[in-house]
Amino acid sequence: MMSQKKCESTIQKGGEMKKGEKIYEGKAKIVYKTDDPDLFIQYFKDDATAFDATKRGTIIGKGVVNNKVSAKLFELLESKGIPTHFVKLLSDREMLMKRLKIMPIEVTVRNITAGGMSKMLAIEEGIVLKEPVLEYHYKRDDLHDPLFNEYHIKALGLATDEELDRVDTLSFEINEILKAFFSERNLDLVDFKLEFGKHKERILLGDEISPDTCRLWEKGTRKKLDKDRFRRDLGGIEEAYQEVYKRVMG
Ligand code: UDP
Repeated sequence: MMSQKKCESTIQKGGEMKKGEKIYEGKAKIVYKTDDPDLFIQYFKDDATAFDATKRGTIIGKGVVNNKVSAKLFELLESKGIPTHFVKLLSDREMLMKRLKIMPIEVTVRNITAGGMSKMLAIEEGIVLKEPVLEYHYKRDDLHDPLFNEYHIKALGLATDEELDRVDTLSFEINEILKAFFSERNLDLVDFKLEFGKHKERILLGDEISPDTCRLWEKGTRKKLDKDRFRRDLGGIEEAYQEVYKRVMG
């Protein structure tokens, strides 16, 4: 049983983990240590950036939406056997997560053409792909997260063959689970970005899954309900995030 002393040191009034030192502040999130070296706290901000942070703004309520939507989707994925870093929600903007050593690879999965793929291959947006496309991007803001392939990754020692196989398998499984989940809520999952990391030698899904990291289009109307409203100045940004929240949590 946990001693009273240990209990007091790790749990604040109200049952929350105590936030320790800030170890990372990104564009949309802050990560804090806790008293437990295996656990971190992820705090979601309302700040939004696009195009390598050359465009900046605030989407009111985004942090709450992204925290709660991510928590719900991590729970869904865990229930289907996908290992994630998610432990529990701590507050509207904070989740407790397992400490991860993040792999410097962003995995993108695409079901419908949009964004970077449409631009790179000069194809219109909205074409339903015959099968999902998986891309790796090198997680390097200074280089604009360039597309690279499994040979680069292995040759640079960023992941082994076995680890990449695992990442691919998990990514395609996650796609099937999320596609079905959003489809039941009248949304098409166009594409999304995942980040994986290692916790005690095990590969877990990390980061977040939210309208910041997914493209979600309303079925039929193809109305964009994601960060493209901010990137492309389409207006109705807050409403779009709230709509996704309602559909995911409802
Ligand atoms: N994405 C992300 N972070 C990034 C880049 C992309 O979460 O740094 C997400 C984006 O929201 C979209 C998917 O990954 O759902 C594919 O993005 P794409 O490669 O088309 O790049 P973009 O059009 O955002 O430049």
